[in-house]
Amino acid sequence: MRGIPLVLHRFFNTLTGRIVLGGLAINLILLPLLLGGVVYLVQKNLQANFLDQVRLDAHLFAETLTQARDPDLMEDMIDDAMLAGRYVYARIATSEQDLRHDAGGEIFQEDFFFNQHGDDIYYISVPLLVGGEEGERRMLFLGYDETPIAEQIRETLWLCAYLVLAYIVAILLASAIFGSLITRPLQRLRAGARRIASGDYDHPLEVLTTIREITSLQQDFEFMRQELVRHNKELEYQSLHDALTHLPNRVLLQDRLRQAIYSAQREDRLLALFMIDLDGFKTINDTLGHHYGDLLLQQVASRIQNLLRKSDTLARFGGDEFCILLPSIADRRHAVDFARKVMAAMEQPFFFEEQPYKVGMSIGIALYPEHGSDDILLMRHADVAMYMAKKNHLDYIIYDAEQDKNSISRLSLMWDLRQALEQHELRLEYQPIFDLRSRRLDAVEILVRWHHPQRGLVMPAEFISLAEQANLIKPLTVWVLEEAIRQCRRWLEQDRDFRISVNLSPRSLQDREHPRRLMDIVESSRIPARRFIMELTESAIIADPQRAREILEDFNALGVCLAIDDFGTGYSSLSSLKKLPLDILKIDKSFIQDMTRNKDDFVIVQSTIELAHNMGLQVVAEGVASDEILQQLEELNCDKVQGFHLGRPLSAARLEYWLDESRNHSVSLTGP
Ligand code: C2E
Ligand code: CA
Ligand code: CA
Repeated sequence: MRGIPLVLHRFFNTLTGRIVLGGLAINLILLPLLLGGVVYLVQKNLQANFLDQVRLDAHLFAETLTQARDPDLMEDMIDDAMLAGRYVYARIATSEQDLRHDAGGEIFQEDFFFNQHGDDIYYISVPLLVGGEEGERRMLFLGYDETPIAEQIRETLWLCAYLVLAYIVAILLASAIFGSLITRPLQRLRAGARRIASGDYDHPLEVLTTIREITSLQQDFEFMRQELVRHNKELEYQSLHDALTHLPNRVLLQDRLRQAIYSAQREDRLLALFMIDLDGFKTINDTLGHHYGDLLLQQVASRIQNLLRKSDTLARFGGDEFCILLPSIADRRHAVDFARKVMAAMEQPFFFEEQPYKVGMSIGIALYPEHGSDDILLMRHADVAMYMAKKNHLDYIIYDAEQDKNSISRLSLMWDLRQALEQHELRLEYQPIFDLRSRRLDAVEILVRWHHPQRGLVMPAEFISLAEQANLIKPLTVWVLEEAIRQCRRWLEQDRDFRISVNLSPRSLQDREHPRRLMDIVESSRIPARRFIMELTESAIIADPQRAREILEDFNALGVCLAIDDFGTGYSSLSSLKKLPLDILKIDKSFIQDMTRNKDDFVIVQSTIELAHNMGLQVVAEGVASDEILQQLEELNCDKVQGFHLGRPLSAARLEYWLDESRNHSVSLTGP
């Protein structure tokens, strides 16, 4: 189908088309009936009038003729009437023959019907009474012209046809207008529905009509649109907010951060991002259950929210991680003050089942533009700072690029260290400490080593401080002590009677539980306590001298020897150590190594030895690097010596081998 048929097909498939088609169909059925009826009545009426007139006229004429009496005069009158066009045919018949037939020979009688013979003439015969009753019988035959009436009827017909045509046109026009009155609002509705389908729900649907069916359809559509709008808003809200606290989530915060960066850039302002991680949340979650965990998160959120201005954003990143965006700050100080305010808000405990619970947090701070020019970088750096704060047990830390460089490799090493403890990657080495007078092995210092699967041997200088930061130092110390005890027990079985000297980290003395645990291990080892030396650095004692003294007294009461390690590096005077139950003083290797060349070092070593002896302490010189040093120490009356020149730290097996060798030969200070 193409061209006009296609256009018509399309048109009749529209509502307007159907209405037009319906109107047309109804009129095509009704019109012929109506028209036929009208035409018929008009025709009948005209014909009847014509016949009445014809009959009246014929009788009047016959009467006029009768009054004339004279046949010639009659003939003249007839001629006149014919000439005047009154009749197309007129004759007086007298003979019987004539009476019966007309000119054509047929029997003359009145037509009775209009246009009976199709000759456009109406014939009528009227009797003429000439000379009274007994006079001759004559008939007047008349023929009237039918064409004017036929013409009139034709004209009426045409007029009717024109009227019908005008009527049909009017009907078509009216139905087209009516159709479009209905379809226009429907089309608007359709356009509205399409708009909604394409995702534009913001404008209400309007149809501008009073047709009830369409307005109720419009109302349904409008209701549907509003539902969609509501549903959409709900979905949008859900995708940008945290369900528990109703705070913005990571996606929304990141978006706001981007906006904030743009305007900070334009207006040359600073902004601050705070990454927050709660401490101890897991404990509350585990002990009280998730219900209280959720409550806690909500309460933490509302406490922080109270500190914020309208333009600030608090977001929850899931778990116990929160993030705050301050889109405009005056300076660094401002950011720090704010972090302090947040910490202060956590001071008051939270109450669950009438029990107080305190919650700490670590805050990492990144500033724009100092710590990053885009959202990703700022978020990462705030995160790194937060990690550092947590690791160092600090409330908050402002991001530091230098620290970050180290922290990444340190962070990964810290993770590995956790594994190392579980996967037995740690080993012990033992460095001999000799008695200068007896020239015999007095003790071995226990030194830990880490055989990292990728990095190889990692020395304690690198990982002990990490272990302290990662809270791994306690399990590490326990492992070292137990491993050393295991080894020591084997040596005792082999009749090797030297002591073991164990290093304790300053953090080991921070609480009383851990030293208690170490003492329990020593007690239950079934090795005499006097075979243990515990080495402590000055810093361990300086931090909290009172507590340190109590702990040292406990160790002392147990029978363990106590040594002060790295003496001379901590700026503490010997007299401050006076009240402590110490047995041994280890002079730091930095003084020993140079004492033969550096007079100051020599004097320090000399006076330290003297003072220590006065206080009843034995002195160990660390870092003995040559015979010359050894000789000088002997002259200064030093008690014990330790150093690479005398013996490097060795594995248990190698130490045993060296001991066996030297037993066969002469016992010498020159060791392995
Ligand atoms: P430290 O307690 O002063 O241990 C002595 C350190 O000096 C050891 O280093 C040893 O190898 C080294 N040394 C011994 N003689 C000489 C010498 O003649 N010259 C030089 N240059 N160095 C010498 P190491 O094994 O690397 O240990 C370093 C530090 O790590 C130790 O210093 C100690 O503070 C700590 N550490 C080692 N093992 C442990 C442990 O099990 N627990 C704890 N808490 N700390 C440990
Ligand atoms: Ca030591
Ligand atoms: Ca030392």
